[in-house]
Amino acid sequence: MPTSIDLQRLKLSDDGLSGALVGFQCLECGVCVFGPATFCQSCTSDNLSPMEFGGRGMLFSYTVVRVPPSGWTGPVPYVLGEVELPEGPHVLAEVVDADIPSLRVGMGMELAVAPVPEHPKGDGMSAYKWRPAGVSQSAKGGRIPL
Ligand SMILES: [Zn+2]
Repeated sequence: MPTSIDLQRLKLSDDGLSGALVGFQCLECGVCVFGPATFCQSCTSDNLSPMEFGGRGMLFSYTVVRVPPSGWTGPVPYVLGEVELPEGPHVLAEVVDADIPSLRVGMGMELAVAPVPEHPKGDGMSAYKWRPAGVSQSAKGGRIPL
């Protein structure tokens, strides 16, 4: 049974194979925040309500990472994408199942829940990633053809 690598950002489904990004919505001004929050970054209210985001967004920006951070166990190079959710927040994550030349700012992206092999916390950890919307799912978040 997979476990979310970050319970404050990713809630897994009962079978652990899919999930939803989570955060808060400010009940005073309506702004949505991805991840943990104790007060609204827009109006400073602490009247926050937990929420789940839909699994879709728009590619706002991306970069190809050729020199990974230490401890990185995934493929290199890889794509780091900043995706804008319809609810407003931007979510930075690895982009999988993508052909780099086909990536375009503004294209639709969908949430991908993928296992993290060789994670220091042990096997069975899952993380949130992005994939271009409509691409068929690969089990492990495949290599990027160059
Ligand atoms: Zn607010």
